[in-house]
Amino acid sequence: MTTIRYQRQHFELGAGQSVLDCLTGHGVPVPHSCRAGVCQTCLMRATEGTVPPAASQLGLKDSLKLANHFLACLCQPDGDLAVALPDDEHTAVHAIVRKLELLNHDIMLVELECRQPLEYRAGQFINLVRDSAHVRSYSLASVPRLDKHLQLHVRRLPQGRVSGWIHEELQIGQNVEVRGPAGDCLYVPGKPGQPLLLVGTGSGLAPLYGILRDALDLGHIGPVRLFHGSRDLHGLYLTDELRELERRFAQFTYYPCLSGADVPAGCTAGRVHEAALRETPNLKGWRVYLCGHPDMVKTTRKKAFLAGAALQEIHADAFNVSHA
Ligand SMILES: Cc1cc2nc3c(=O)[nH]c(=O)nc-3n(C[C@H](O)[C@H](O)[C@H](O)COP(=O)(O)OP(=O)(O)OC[C@H]3O[C@@H](n4cnc5c(N)ncnc54)[C@H](O)[C@@H]3O)c2cc1C
Repeated sequence: MTTIRYQRQHFELGAGQSVLDCLTGHGVPVPHSCRAGVCQTCLMRATEGTVPPAASQLGLKDSLKLANHFLACLCQPDGDLAVALPDDEHTAVHAIVRKLELLNHDIMLVELECRQPLEYRAGQFINLVRDSAHVRSYSLASVPRLDKHLQLHVRRLPQGRVSGWIHEELQIGQNVEVRGPAGDCLYVPGKPGQPLLLVGTGSGLAPLYGILRDALDLGHIGPVRLFHGSRDLHGLYLTDELRELERRFAQFTYYPCLSGADVPAGCTAGRVHEAALRETPNLKGWRVYLCGHPDMVKTTRKKAFLAGAALQEIHADAFNVSHA
């Protein structure tokens, strides 16, 4: 029998269970979100025992690995393990809220000034801590060279414990803790002529906006197409900024896509991934970025591959939300 010790309590690990399943199954409130090793919100630290390194430390920075951190959702230890929440010294970056501004009816721009340097790339994500049990991933719309502060686009979900807190309670000047960055949905310099396709729904525009400005600022000269999808006009945002980029950069085209019945001039009718593939039916040689609703990301990844994009050229961030 393998046991997990957490805060002086012992829990028996069931067959095939992860540390996260075991703890949450016993009602222990540890932070988590995607349960798939992507969001890193279930980061924990082993204080005794050994974690399987290859499986449970996937994608972690070396400094975290050396300090015995692991992802609880991926960790299925062979022997007894004592675990704790992550060590602030290795993970926490303190930041001050500098701006809160609605970008449309349900998406808030959050600007954070970090008190310590945070090295990141546009398109990666950070984890924002509401309290020790509520940590959520938000993608970075900012570009370190171009923007003074971190920029997040947070969509309010009905009954959302963290997005609701951000929209209703967070105040300018408030101190918050962030962790990260993580993720590899980012612009990779070196192929300035390669065509880029960016497809996103809702606040999935956040990483795409960062990647787009990063690429254009680094002198990308190949065609860049951004498809942003919403049901109606109210769901679109940053349209003026994107139109302005279109004017400044001839290689860039912006396609606002509306899936509802009312489609004004200047917008493309239909669901965003269908519009993207209709306009770009042959994706051989393209690099593709997909961000936002998990169903859209899953469907489009498959369709982009079938349209000729190489799997290693398809970068995706599915905004999985917790179902706890
Ligand atoms: C890598 C990554 C990057 C992300 N980046 C962003 C980002 O840039 N911007 C952003 O807004 N979010 C982003 N997310 C999602 C974000 O991390 C949170 O999951 C989201 O804000 C909801 O958290 P919450 O605490 O408000 O909701 P919770 O309290 O966790 O959930 C609220 C309720 O909503 C339900 N629900 C689930 N899916 C939906 C849905 N699609 N619509 C309505 N209700 C639903 C849940 O099941 C639950 O009952 C990202 C997620 C990942 C994994």
